[in-house]
Amino acid sequence: MISFDVLFERMDRVLEAVPEEEFDKWVVFDFDGVCSSYKEGWQGKDVFGNPVKGTADLVNRIQKMDVKVALVTTRPKTPALEEWLEENGFTFDSINDASHNPPDSGTMKPIAVMYVDDRGYRFDEDDVERCAEEIITMLARDEGVEKKAEEL
Ligand SMILES: [Mg+2]
Repeated sequence: MISFDVLFERMDRVLEAVPEEEFDKWVVFDFDGVCSSYKEGWQGKDVFGNPVKGTADLVNRIQKMDVKVALVTTRPKTPALEEWLEENGFTFDSINDASHNPPDSGTMKPIAVMYVDDRGYRFDEDDVERCAEEIITMLARDEGVEKKAEEL
C-alpha cells in the first residue's frame, strides 16, 4: 500500500501545476461508513460509530493543500454530530452546505472535484449497463432483498 506521504507528495506536484487563480477546489465526504464506521447500521440520529481509522488524517491533509473539504450527510447537523467530529479530529469547511456554489446553481449539491462515499459509484457514460449491474448487486445486498434476489 502506498503511504500517505508518497501520495501527498504526488498531490503537491499536481497542485503546483494548477494556476492559483483557478484553484477553488472542494472534496465532499460522506459521514456514515466513511468518517464513522457504519458496520452496526443505523442506531439513531445522534448515535455514531467509531471513527474510521485514517479518514480524519486524510481530511486534514487535503485541507493543508488548500483544498476545501465538505461533509454531506443525510444526518442533521446537530450539536452531537459537531461534538463527535471535533472529538475525533475532523475539521470540515462546511457541513450540509452548498453555499460555495455559484448563486445561479440552484442546487443543494455542493460542486466538488470528488465525492467520497461508501455508497458511491463512479459512473461511466459509455457503460450504463455496468451501472445497472451494480445497482442490482447493491439492492440484493440490502436486508430482505437478498433472499428475494436469489429466488429470481
Ligand atoms: Mg454512507
